[in-house]
Amino acid sequence: MYAVEYQQPTNLADAASILASTGGRALAGGQSLVAAMKLRLSQPGTLVDLSLIPDLKGIRRNGDRLVIGAMAKHAEVASSDVVKAALPALAGLAEGIGDRQVRNMGTIGGSLANNDPAADWPAAVLACNATIRTNQRAIGAGEFFKGMFETALAPDEIVTAVDFPVVQRAAYAKFPNPASRFALVGVFVAQMGDGSVRVAVTGAAPSVFRATAIEDALAKSFTPVAAKGVKVGADGLNSDLHGSAEYRAHLISVMASRAVVAIA
Ligand SMILES: Cc1cc2nc3c(=O)[nH]c(=O)nc-3n(C[C@H](O)[C@H](O)[C@H](O)COP(=O)(O)OP(=O)(O)OC[C@H]3O[C@@H](n4cnc5c(N)ncnc54)[C@H](O)[C@@H]3O)c2cc1C
Repeated sequence: MYAVEYQQPTNLADAASILASTGGRALAGGQSLVAAMKLRLSQPGTLVDLSLIPDLKGIRRNGDRLVIGAMAKHAEVASSDVVKAALPALAGLAEGIGDRQVRNMGTIGGSLANNDPAADWPAAVLACNATIRTNQRAIGAGEFFKGMFETALAPDEIVTAVDFPVVQRAAYAKFPNPASRFALVGVFVAQMGDGSVRVAVTGAAPSVFRATAIEDALAKSFTPVAAKGVKVGADGLNSDLHGSAEYRAHLISVMASRAVVAIA
């Protein structure tokens, strides 16, 4: 590791002003950032630790919305009674992230800001059409994810919370990489309040995306057979030592059908 300035502000305004004046990086649980720094893939001069900022914490139900603070750890979401009552699929997704250590340090805000192509949270956020709240604005899920490790966030912008609509029913099915537990393919299926179906896929492509052909099939017939019957094309999908694009394409329909089984 190299020398780095470490700041630990206790409120959002101070954190934002340090980030803006130093060009530093926000630090959540360090699960991605510290590893990237060790590899010199990221070399911030200043780290702005967000862990003492009360505004970024907590999980609450607000009418027909579920609001999860950016610094909520995956383990907190997994065990939250509020989440289990409002949107249990999110608790299940959080429980399946990495290992116990990662779940006890990693945060929903850090995961979204990082936008790893195989991360789980982007699938839930896009399928549920959640809103990402920052210290500057509210960003719809459809505008937030820009590409591999790229989001709509400005360099000094801080995610404060993720605001989910309480959808009618939802489930997440992931085919995990056996080594890292990241998604080789993960599919989140959500039936919205108006009955429409949204399906988002992670792990398969450079960034999370909606599987519109599966959405159309499930809108006609909300059954595992309908999801599995959609032949997804391999164009644009990732191909690496873990699996070919064709294999991932096949997994998308299979995981979508498993999510529907879990919902029904
Ligand atoms: C071994 C291992 C296995 C893992 N397995 C999985 C898995 O199965 N599924 C999965 O989804 N993830 C997995 N992860 C990733 C994990 O979920 C972390 O949540 C993720 O790496 C982000 O870490 P963090 O919250 O500690 O953020 P950090 O590492 O602290 O930060 C990550 C990035 O987000 C920025 N950032 C952090 N918080 C904010 C904020 N509030 N506003 C703006 N920017 C912010 C930072 O500046 C940095 O660029 C795994 C990680 C490890 C190490």
